Amino acid sequence: MIIIYGTRTKLKIDKNIGVRKCENCHHTVEQALAREKLSFTLFYIPFLILTKRRMILCPCCGEAKSMSYKEYKQMKESLGDN
Ligand SMILES: [Zn+2]
Repeated sequence: MIIIYGTRTKLKIDKNIGVRKCENCHHTVEQALAREKLSFTLFYIPFLILTKRRMILCPCCGEAKSMSYKEYKQMKESLGDN
């Protein structure tokens, strides 16, 4: 029997945080909170999903500013639930 397994990295956009100035490209664009998820798959079915990294994503230059879980949570809460 052959066991097919592997890992997959996926980027999930959590929430738009509105228009901000990017520290990297200095463009004022709409940025988003995103999470990079790492999933372990068995026969292409994910059985374990971990959050690898949390970040603010700039769609203009692709810069991802990493942030801690605490910062991420705070920012998400300050934006409200809508
Ligand atoms: Zn940028």
